[in-house]
Amino acid sequence: MRLGGEFSKVSRAVVGLGIPTVCEEALCPNIMECWGSGTATFMIMGKVCTRGCRFCYVAKGRPEPLDPGEPARIALAVRKLGLSYVTITSVDRDDLPDGGARHFAETIRMVKRLNPGVLVEALIPDFQGSRDSLRVVVEAGPDVLGHNIETVERLTPRVRDRRAGYRQSLEVLRMAKELNPGLVTKSSILLGLGETLEEVLGAMRDLRRVGVDILVLSQYLRPSPRQLPVEKYYTVEEFKLLEREALRMGFSYVVAHPLARTSYRAREAYLRALERLRARAAG
Ligand code: SF4
Repeated sequence: MRLGGEFSKVSRAVVGLGIPTVCEEALCPNIMECWGSGTATFMIMGKVCTRGCRFCYVAKGRPEPLDPGEPARIALAVRKLGLSYVTITSVDRDDLPDGGARHFAETIRMVKRLNPGVLVEALIPDFQGSRDSLRVVVEAGPDVLGHNIETVERLTPRVRDRRAGYRQSLEVLRMAKELNPGLVTKSSILLGLGETLEEVLGAMRDLRRVGVDILVLSQYLRPSPRQLPVEKYYTVEEFKLLEREALRMGFSYVVAHPLARTSYRAREAYLRALERLRARAAG
């Protein structure tokens, strides 16, 4: 883990701007490595989520109205921090007719306009499966479209909010590829919530079937006693085994580590996935 000048620069600037980053909000264990390499994750559309997933620490309730100045502020923050890879994510906004898709798209566009060459990953909610909302985000031109299925199918009703759905999330990922076949897609599974190994392999196969390029596997850690307990801690060997299986299934890049989070090694994963996509298209 590097604690170089880049980390200090990002840290100072983020504190100064008062913009929430998931890196800090979620007490992410990879914060030093990510910020140190010019990568950071911003959470937009407020700190309150309309959903109540039982593994998640984010506050649930009635969110504030959207802040129209937010896209420009995030874009300026990216410039000020000199970032090369940015993940933009959000809470779920079921209170908005488009789920916040236009605001999400505006943020992507502003970040790109003000920071030519920066890579943008949009880690999106499911927009209740709306193809129109998804299209709005895809057309804004993110380099990576991430949407997390979070867990295996059997555990989805227990782990995620009842409005989320395993099949709905797969469909979002499938539609993203359909809307733009050149788009790199990404998803993540938390391990240790009571799933079997066979179920994890099944979920991985489902993700490949809808064309997902990058897979992130990480250990679920209970953020507080209010969230679900950890049912199992996976060993590094088990992560390695799953990584081998995932690569064999055809994922372009796999991050499998107890402390991996969605944005961990995100730039490297994107570049590898892009290379594979181009090679497939060429031959
Ligand atoms: S939708 Fe996302 S932010 Fe909201 S509770 Fe579920 S995991 Fe947390």
